[in-house]
Amino acid sequence: MGIHVPTHKNRQQASGKSHAGNTPFFQPALSPTTNGILQRNLQHRPDPSFRSIPQGVITRAEFDQYMMDYFGVRDIHTGTQAQQEASLTRHGRPAPTIPHWQSWDPGTASADYAHIIRAIEDVAETFGAIPTIHTVAFFKMDYDPNAAGIGIARRDVGASFGGGKLTIFEAFSRSHAFPNARSDTGGSYPSAAVVLAPAPGETPGAPVPYQSREHSLRENIAHELGHGIAEDAHRADPDVFDKFNRAIGWVGGQLFDIGQQAVADAISNGTPPPSQYRIPHDDWNNPQWIEQPMSRYAVAGGPGEDFAETIAAYVYSPAVLLQRSPERYRFITAHIGTWATQMRVLPPPVLRGDFPVNDEIRHMA
Ligand SMILES: [Zn+2]
Repeated sequence: MGIHVPTHKNRQQASGKSHAGNTPFFQPALSPTTNGILQRNLQHRPDPSFRSIPQGVITRAEFDQYMMDYFGVRDIHTGTQAQQEASLTRHGRPAPTIPHWQSWDPGTASADYAHIIRAIEDVAETFGAIPTIHTVAFFKMDYDPNAAGIGIARRDVGASFGGGKLTIFEAFSRSHAFPNARSDTGGSYPSAAVVLAPAPGETPGAPVPYQSREHSLRENIAHELGHGIAEDAHRADPDVFDKFNRAIGWVGGQLFDIGQQAVADAISNGTPPPSQYRIPHDDWNNPQWIEQPMSRYAVAGGPGEDFAETIAAYVYSPAVLLQRSPERYRFITAHIGTWATQMRVLPPPVLRGDFPVNDEIRHMA
């Protein structure tokens, strides 16, 4: 579910390509040999309409090819120690050193490559477009430089996004889940197969069910793509974060329950909202809130993390997002069309399995 921005422009471009009749219709997008021939013969990227979304174990070479062909990524690399140390350099200081640094990526072949692609495809399916991603880099873990210029490990960080660069760390499949319902005072919720011991702030409120590693991984990637969408949104509308903060109830880095009329009034009048409606991160799931955040991190991390969590929820838990956070849901729905002007339009593939879906597509080919 979700909204789809118009893709007519893209379709016209697709149908106007000169290779009609030149290429085999049944183009296995992931065959390195075929892709090589395609690129040598045609001197341009394969048509995304005919991409075949990979499943299961794929090779790193197949991953790289797909990311470049269909997502516009220009640089995919396994990071080096020198690169990571340089990335920690703060203005006017020597590059920090990282003791016992280790290289990491998912390997020469892994199902995780297909899961990463699938997360990006899920964002494309929801919005009709994906954020601008120039670079994908793999590192073992994130670091912060300390005052002595030594990189200190941040093992809880699974991925990050900044300036069009998606960085993926070994912990990127760490557990991630949204509540399965709106929190309500009656406390009756859809049953969850497995619910882990509630984290602080989770109770009272709707349960946060255990999710598979694969699903957590995809939500984590979608969260990072949310930061990417934020970058594109800011290019499309420099006031987007101010609008988000006002629409959702962020004032001075604190979250207030925008569902309360007194909070909405205070924000429009430029006066401090009533303090009893401030939502603390350790009470984020409480049924007393009218506009309910989707996670503790959405509150503790500030508006930027709230935005990224909202995008991930819009992709993977849209019905729950609408029930818990109608203002967040509305904000995305109302603005995605504007943001998409700075995103990469990516239409759904026209093939289902190995066969064309209808005559119109047969004609296009
Ligand atoms: Zn984030």
